[in-house]
Amino acid sequence: MQAPATVNVATPEFFEGLDVLLQNRTVTSPVVVACYLQWHTAKQYAGDLGTTYQQRFRPLHTRLGQVAKREPERWSTCVRTVRRVVADIVDQWYVAFTFGPDARDAARQTIAGIRQAYLARVHDALPWVEADSKKVALEKLARMAEKIGYPDFLFDPTKIAANYGWLTERLVHQDEVGGRLKTTIAPPTYFDVMRLTRQFQDREERLLFARGEVDRTKWGMAASEVNAYFMPPLNEIVFPAGILGRPFYLTGAPSYINFGSIGSIVGHEIGHSMESRVLPDGRLGKWWTNATEAAYHERARCFIDQYSQFPITNTTRVNGKLTLAENVADNSGLARAHEAWMAELDPAGATTASPRLPGFAELGYSREQTFYLAFAQMWCGRMRPAAELQLVLTNEHAPGHVRVRGTVANSQTFREAWSCPVGRPMAPEKTCELW
Ligand SMILES: [Zn+2]
Repeated sequence: MQAPATVNVATPEFFEGLDVLLQNRTVTSPVVVACYLQWHTAKQYAGDLGTTYQQRFRPLHTRLGQVAKREPERWSTCVRTVRRVVADIVDQWYVAFTFGPDARDAARQTIAGIRQAYLARVHDALPWVEADSKKVALEKLARMAEKIGYPDFLFDPTKIAANYGWLTERLVHQDEVGGRLKTTIAPPTYFDVMRLTRQFQDREERLLFARGEVDRTKWGMAASEVNAYFMPPLNEIVFPAGILGRPFYLTGAPSYINFGSIGSIVGHEIGHSMESRVLPDGRLGKWWTNATEAAYHERARCFIDQYSQFPITNTTRVNGKLTLAENVADNSGLARAHEAWMAELDPAGATTASPRLPGFAELGYSREQTFYLAFAQMWCGRMRPAAELQLVLTNEHAPGHVRVRGTVANSQTFREAWSCPVGRPMAPEKTCELW
């Protein structure tokens, strides 16, 4: 394998710091480095070993808030493990049972609405973005690729067989016995399979990297994964089938429910493209003019300060800087989802796609309010305090409750819908806005 001539490092400061740390033998002795590497290897593989080894890690995982009160059901552990090794095969079944062609069409339609809302927003609003930058933003939006549901190769037997050749190679053994070739089928041990899985996946990544090729058919997530992403170098948004079903998207649900949930997720991912430093074709490049960049930082400061106010423990608050890009994407995502829903309504304010839910009128909830309920409901969850602290210290996403409260606090349409008096926590006097 040939090493590439140029490597683009996203976090040079980290490697500079690491270099200093490793060079300083008095602070970081070779023993420390060796122990550190061993520790990470052990930590990575312990879960694939027997109970004895797993138990050793239990006190640590308990302290970190990562141990559930109840052991997960056996079937759930098995499905998760099989998915780790042969995700594509599990996904074939998942997609066949859950994701029909109408689901793809519905997702495509939602994405088109949100994309339109962004185009209108860049075109008609955002006075702080200069015309040259706007031109690129519009082109990025227009040229953005979409991957919806599952990769096409999922139902191509040849491709699937090729993808898992590394595993079948280990199953079939050919030995010379008494001058003849004897074939036996013997499965490797469980641990071997898990080790090979990691090695194979790492090797694939490295090969692609060394070849310097761009594989536009590649998916960064399994079809059954409940997640989504924007990939800057490909200028593409990806929504696996896993997130295009309950509770994020419900076929036949009123459109304000779907726009409040999956719509805001779509808006979030497209919102990332506004922040990314790539050109419409995915190459790195400066597309913000100096004035736009300066205005951006001023507005970003507002978000950093706002989110840094949310307390997590007595002594820790949300890191507004670390979570900035995600918070900004949440804010623009929800706003665009709302606009896309509005654009779908007829002048009377009600379409057949937006009927009131049974019982909601009696409860006094309007469509507008239910839009925000659907958004907030997505982020419902419970976390142990230690796990939440770990998340706040290391993850670029704020905890779910912060993502809801921070986003709606900046929304004018939210405070109108819920008649929040200005000055209340969910309708502060000072609000932040970027895209
Ligand atoms: Zn994000």
